[in-house]
Amino acid sequence: MSRYNGPVCRLCRRETASSKTGEKIKLFLKGDRCLTRKCAVERRGTAPGQKTTGGKMRTKVSEYGRQLREKQKMRRYYGVHETQFENYFREAARVPGQTGKTFLQLLERRLDNVVYRLNLAMSRSQARQLVTHRHFRVNGKVVNVPSFIVRPGDVVTIGERSMKSLVFEANLEVARNRRPPDWLEWNESENTAKVLQIPSREHIDTPVDEQLIVEFYSR
Ligand code: SF4
Repeated sequence: MSRYNGPVCRLCRRETASSKTGEKIKLFLKGDRCLTRKCAVERRGTAPGQKTTGGKMRTKVSEYGRQLREKQKMRRYYGVHETQFENYFREAARVPGQTGKTFLQLLERRLDNVVYRLNLAMSRSQARQLVTHRHFRVNGKVVNVPSFIVRPGDVVTIGERSMKSLVFEANLEVARNRRPPDWLEWNESENTAKVLQIPSREHIDTPVDEQLIVEFYSR
């Protein structure tokens, strides 16, 4: 399946407009722009193509519809293809324990997400590009696979030559001023990060109800 190349804010508006509580749940796909008044969710609270309903969904959403929207929201949040997303679910279902939590943990442990959580990229899509362009090492070895799953004890470093690039100059400045989640440790003097543990559900602020996704795939 090909990657969606259209405006990502449309995806974000779609998911926000389907929020059950009417809360503005953003997917944060555009870096710092998401925090400004230019954000499309702030400017227009409606779903794409929906103009006259005052921000409310036109039809009553079925249980299946809710599960589907939650699944799409999470997939778009992490920027993962449908097939790969399903594979993560299957892998999570094989592990004893709460499938929804394990599923979320797997997505959270992707290298592109770790780079984003460390504030070394403005968005997950930028993080994915930086990983693909061989800017990161894990335990001393170059890893250019965004879906690489990190483990406790892994050390993530930025390549020496990459450190001199303009993009890292700017992003490192941000990383110095923002704290990563507690399951990751950022060493400012060495510009390296260590994975301290597998993230718990409390460490993951992804605004999804993973149980709805478990129900979607268990139909
Ligand atoms: Fe979503 Fe960010 Fe676009 Fe706002 S700017 S609509 S939060 S992707």
